[in-house]
Amino acid sequence: MTYDDNNIFARILRSEIPNETVYEDEHVLAFKDINPQAPVHILVIPKGAYISIEDFGENASAEEIKAFHAAVSKIVREKNLSAQGFRTITNTGLHGGQEVPHFHLHILAGKPLGRMLPEG
Ligand code: AMP
Repeated sequence: MTYDDNNIFARILRSEIPNETVYEDEHVLAFKDINPQAPVHILVIPKGAYISIEDFGENASAEEIKAFHAAVSKIVREKNLSAQGFRTITNTGLHGGQEVPHFHLHILAGKPLGRMLPEG
């Protein structure tokens, strides 16, 4: 699978589509999800063109990988999410329910989030 340069997050990174940025640095952008599933719903993406967590882990530089995880920690700390807890999700591929083929981590918080998956 090759990276689709016209996916929504690639277009956000090129500023063709607006976003509500919550964090940005050289390697990472984080913004509010347009269809929030919890009171806090933030998407964290690398600026590099990676399709999935697998692609990112295999092909990103150590600097990009460090920056990504450091950004998640900074966002969580800045928004004081650890006190009550939060959930991170990365959907991958068809069975994972990935809609946007640019690697992203969901940060969900702000209420009890229930079980990880629906029963059954
Ligand atoms: P996933 O199903 O894991 O690929 O998640 C894609 C997420 O991107 C969904 O939660 C969408 O609500 C979100 N999304 C789609 N378009 C936008 C956009 N323009 N700005 C912010 N979030 C978006």
